Amino acid sequence: MTIKVETVDRLDAVDNKRPRKPTPQVCETARDETDHDAMLVPAQAATTRNSLYENVLAQFDKAADIMQLDPNIRKILASTENEIVAHFPVKMNNNEVEMFTGYRVQHNDALGPFKGGLRYHPQLDIDEARALAAWMTFKCALAGIPFGGAKGGVQIDPSKYSVTELERITRRFVFALGDNIGPEYDIPAPDMNTNAQIMAWILDTYLSTMPPHERQRNIHVVTGKPVAAGGSVGRDKATGQGVVYCIEKWAQDRKLSLNDATFILQGFGNVGSWVARLLTKLGAKLIAVSDVTGGTRNRDGIDPDDLLRYVKVHGGVLKYPGGEFVDNIMFMQTAANIFVPAAMENQITGESARWLNVDLVAEAANGPTDPDGDAILQQRKIDVIPDILCNAGGVIVSYFEWLQNKRSEFWDLEEVDFKLQKKIMSAYGNVRDKARELGIDRRTAAFVLALERLERTYKDRGIFP
Ligand code: GLU
Repeated sequence: MTIKVETVDRLDAVDNKRPRKPTPQVCETARDETDHDAMLVPAQAATTRNSLYENVLAQFDKAADIMQLDPNIRKILASTENEIVAHFPVKMNNNEVEMFTGYRVQHNDALGPFKGGLRYHPQLDIDEARALAAWMTFKCALAGIPFGGAKGGVQIDPSKYSVTELERITRRFVFALGDNIGPEYDIPAPDMNTNAQIMAWILDTYLSTMPPHERQRNIHVVTGKPVAAGGSVGRDKATGQGVVYCIEKWAQDRKLSLNDATFILQGFGNVGSWVARLLTKLGAKLIAVSDVTGGTRNRDGIDPDDLLRYVKVHGGVLKYPGGEFVDNIMFMQTAANIFVPAAMENQITGESARWLNVDLVAEAANGPTDPDGDAILQQRKIDVIPDILCNAGGVIVSYFEWLQNKRSEFWDLEEVDFKLQKKIMSAYGNVRDKARELGIDRRTAAFVLALERLERTYKDRGIFP
């Protein structure tokens, strides 16, 4: 194990076997005191803070018991592979230096390069990064894409920084990660409070540290880039689109028409706002939305485009004139067909699962339901489309972007959407059928399918030496 400790970038608890390449100092952008960030939507605050990694392990153990996962492979998958913690300095607009903490947890790469988003959130810690990385491993395995799982980010509230400060924080974090990311090794993507612009800075910083002749063939080091910088069309809406494909399939199976359906939505960032727009296009009615600022409800329907315009100006749904104010409990108690959590983890708990008055929880967020909440949802016979299936659209289209970059291809939106639909529908069908076959809940069925794939790979390859 090599731990490279530098005077400025300290890497803690690192099992990064690969040496970091020597990199020139990244140029700072011009300072700008005025351009405060309006592009990032603050995340929903978590109400409770159980260990998320314990939640993942509870889900994992349940599935591993049912499918009788090989005990040796179980040990491997219950653990993360590499955990990188970097403390790095960034010069702020007022010329003072602030220290930041960034994480990258690489859970498993048996099926392909580590893959997963980077989030910017004040509550991000090693436990959350571990949990999110593990969910990525199972998500990619379930979706049948050749990636492993990773996750990370920076522990900050991005709404407190200007755009130019965010750019420097991003670039300095990428510099600190060095060769711990790479196009065939670990490929970041957007997650909570990060977006295509931030991916473009990651790309530019990473490429700036390589010799010029290497640059063009490494643009798949990050996905979710702006289209002009090598991104894929359809990536921006992909997670929301995947959620909607899953909901359509659920409605079809239940012989329900989405035209008469109502839904409530928690979180109005990228994923939530896309779900709102795409689902209302199918005729469903959005009747309540909550985010970190508060909640709004209108049983006659909320126009998502109008709400989006409001949120861009006001930073959240609070005081939206198109609805009445509701607090979190009133929001969760709103009677509707579908609840789409698209914000933080641990929102559906043993307590709040009892408030819900819906037929379906479509988990657009990662880990929105804790194990107690899960048990209540099952008891109450509320259907669940589990997160590792429901929100897989993002990483599926990330895979398409990665492929397009590698092959120097450019697919149109029709092709991207068609391929996404095919992949996510096939995973949906597999989960539904496995749940029926084994008489188990859909989350556990999704884990069983992912574990079967991982187990097969380990059995074929064996454990070195
Ligand atoms: N952050 C997204 C997720 O949680 C997408 C990850 C990716 O595209 O790599 O699935």
